[in-house]
Amino acid sequence: MKRPIALITGASRGIGAATARLLAQRGYDLAVNYQHNAEAAGEVVKLAQAMGARAVALQADVSVESEVVRLFKDVDSQLGNLNALVNNAGIVQPQTRVEWITEERLDVMFRTNVNSAFLCSREAVLRMAIDKGGQGGAIVNVSSAAARLGAPNEYVDYAASKAAMDALTKGLSLEVATQGIRVNAVRPGLIETDIHASGGEPGRVARMAPAIPMQRGGSAHEVATAIAWLLSDEASYITGSFIDAAGGR
Ligand code: NAP
Repeated sequence: MKRPIALITGASRGIGAATARLLAQRGYDLAVNYQHNAEAAGEVVKLAQAMGARAVALQADVSVESEVVRLFKDVDSQLGNLNALVNNAGIVQPQTRVEWITEERLDVMFRTNVNSAFLCSREAVLRMAIDKGGQGGAIVNVSSAAARLGAPNEYVDYAASKAAMDALTKGLSLEVATQGIRVNAVRPGLIETDIHASGGEPGRVARMAPAIPMQRGGSAHEVATAIAWLLSDEASYITGSFIDAAGGR
């Protein structure tokens, strides 16, 4: 049987890399997108290939439309018809309060976390929609518990970008419900990855663990399992839905 083909944005590290490993194990071929870290993306590809997947590392800044268009053309030519998209690439910036927010920061935040998901979803729908000659597919957006919690004193801009992603999830799921395409989201809580260091606090998960009902941060793999399930046929009647992978938070 033909292996399904998945594109994961931001799959060189963290949740994206864990999702790539799990999908390779579950029989997908993989496009491993990254922005800067070619070496880490190469390691993910090597591991996926060792599990029997066809896998390629594809560099593209998904906050830039022309690079998204090129990325999807690379997937077409190097792997074939896309079956699954994980909109995972995302950033935080140094922790701040709204009173110190700048226009420049908002531009970077919304281009990277919101525009990227819209643009990648557009390219995926153009390929997957039955009325466009496609065979359907599944999209999972990696949102955040911050969309519900607001991330005060740290990342309100980030929380707002993830709330926008939740609206995209709901709205797009309804637009393409008759086109064989399911669109869902996972909202991780505090997960042990590099993202916290990029916000200026590498120890953030340990500091906040006491406030998590399960009293610990999550692993990237624990988020990947929810993403993989939403992509799978086991979730065939599920669209426009959200899984909170946040230890009860
Ligand atoms: P991470 O460890 O910092 O990894 C980020 C990944 O995104 C890297 O592969 C990076 O590529 C890539 N990336 C960043 N900007 C990009 C761009 N413009 N174009 C293409 N790729 C880009 O992050 P993570 O913690 O795994 O987060 C993954 C997703 O989960 C994000 O959307 C994040 O908001 C969400 N999330 C994370 C947590 C958490 O606690 N970790 C909680 C809730 C939600 P390079 O390696 O090339 O730089």
